[in-house]
Amino acid sequence: MSSRVVVLGSCGAWPEPRRACTGFLFEHEGFRVVIDLGYDTLARLLEHLGSTTALGLDAVIITHRHPDHMNDLHGLFRARWLGWPAAEAPALPTYAAEGVRERVLGLEEHDTGAVDQVFDWRPLPAPESQVGPFRLESWLLPHQVPNAGVRLTTADGLVVAFTGDSGPSPDLVDLGRDADLFIVDATDRPLGSPTAVDPVHLSAREAGEVAEVCGARRLLLTHFWPDHDRALSLAAAQQVYGGEVLLAEEGAVIPLR
Ligand SMILES: [Zn+2]
Repeated sequence: MSSRVVVLGSCGAWPEPRRACTGFLFEHEGFRVVIDLGYDTLARLLEHLGSTTALGLDAVIITHRHPDHMNDLHGLFRARWLGWPAAEAPALPTYAAEGVRERVLGLEEHDTGAVDQVFDWRPLPAPESQVGPFRLESWLLPHQVPNAGVRLTTADGLVVAFTGDSGPSPDLVDLGRDADLFIVDATDRPLGSPTAVDPVHLSAREAGEVAEVCGARRLLLTHFWPDHDRALSLAAAQQVYGGEVLLAEEGAVIPLR
């Protein structure tokens, strides 16, 4: 069965019209794990699953608690809790960074325990774990809040890695080493903007530099600032990285092998 990554959203911070914030679906041997569920990703996930109650989803990973990476996790909760027969489905293994569970609970009027019935919470970063056919490794990376870079490896050696949102860190080299697809935060912003110099995100050039050092086979840039000219990010990464550079695009299906 084919292995692939589906892009659910590509924007950082807030979504542009017809786009969404961060989210990726990784499928291998029929197992489906979603990595981040930022603003507006849920509808595209459900469309891809062909299920309004998210049947067919096997696991969830949330890199950090910023809403552009997890806001639609609450929507997923509603789909699983209020939908039928998903309400009777087993709890979803959910690897989530510090504070994610509390934010989902914060959107509920009363803590009825339903959130903890839908999601089987596991901490992130986590000790090396098996998630369906994937070995999950994770690293705490620099950001405003605890953020986990995640690396998923299949039994036959296929590797997909994702930084979440991260500033520069030596751990990025281990995270993306020899990855078949290295998905990297590339948060370029207009020069002169108050947030243009930013120690807690990577630029596209920095993404290219780390992909080059760690020998990643393909680099997928994501987390684009709304209205940013993405062609500039592509060019910046290509200047320093010799492999293929892809730009995240809503709905894109990226085959692996
Ligand atoms: Zn963030």
